[in-house]
Amino acid sequence: MNVVEIALGEVAEGVFELRLPIPFEDGLVNVFLFADGDEVDLLDCGMNSAESVAAIRAATSKVGAKRIRRLVVTHIHPDHYGAAGTLAGDGGADLYLHRLEVPLVNPRYVELEHLVREVHTYLLVNGVPAEEAEVLSNSQRALSQLVKPADPAVQLDGAELLNMGRRELRVEWTPGHSPGHICLYESEDKLLFAGDHMLPELSPNIGLHPQSTPDPLHEYLEGLERMAAYGPRKIMPAHGRPFHDAAGRAAALIAHHRRRLDQITEIVAGGEHSAWQVALELWGERKNLYEKRLALQEALAHLQALAVEGRLVKLVSPSAVRWRPQPSTA
Ligand SMILES: [Zn+2]
Repeated sequence: MNVVEIALGEVAEGVFELRLPIPFEDGLVNVFLFADGDEVDLLDCGMNSAESVAAIRAATSKVGAKRIRRLVVTHIHPDHYGAAGTLAGDGGADLYLHRLEVPLVNPRYVELEHLVREVHTYLLVNGVPAEEAEVLSNSQRALSQLVKPADPAVQLDGAELLNMGRRELRVEWTPGHSPGHICLYESEDKLLFAGDHMLPELSPNIGLHPQSTPDPLHEYLEGLERMAAYGPRKIMPAHGRPFHDAAGRAAALIAHHRRRLDQITEIVAGGEHSAWQVALELWGERKNLYEKRLALQEALAHLQALAVEGRLVKLVSPSAVRWRPQPSTA
């Protein structure tokens, strides 16, 4: 067998960060190994590629472990959950997953047809031209190739205390980027394992779509405040480098979304819009299909938050969802 090159760094005593390759974002996802003698617990697992799984196996033996005991997954996006079916179940690790992520797995990665149709309708009613809606609704198929699902051994609600390696971490339910996204927090050393919730450079995609919760942006902003209030000493994100200023980062992310809410209010003040029109005005034409769909979902999350706050009017029919200024601001 070839020797696998791995980048393994100790981020806290007995906790190791492994950087795995992914074909999007900044090209790397960080997963964490919590060592405990000849067993290791894993937070997130990268995509289901031979290269990525070999790196996890190499890292497992490098920290002195013979087997992976628990696999805790922050959310079921391919770069965090992809290899779950290779590492968990059938004599492998026990998979821990928030229960709001569990129902997303089959429609997304196994029985795609229903979701592809549902997304197609959702794109059309939100103003996406028919030709593009066809291509965009099919983009889900490519992602499913990177994922091998597994059944969870434990479904989390949030607020559980988990043994990870020789440490105890609390599950923090932080919805927004995904309905059952979780962070792990260790109060003793004030360590926050943030998943995609709080990233040092990127603003994670917050989208309204058929599988999201109904008001993901408000949930996300509330979760940022909750995590910052712990005053963590060190934040370990899933993308980018560890950082220290949680309050500053949370404030910057919140300000970014508040600005975007104001921008969208202004766009819609010009007259009734579909979400697609708003997305095009905000971000212009994007080449990448995946980015286009994310832009629509992001615009919708903000529009929905504005409707919830009473700053916009949301109108629905079987064929269209439209957004209109409040009469007072028209
Ligand atoms: Zn993600």
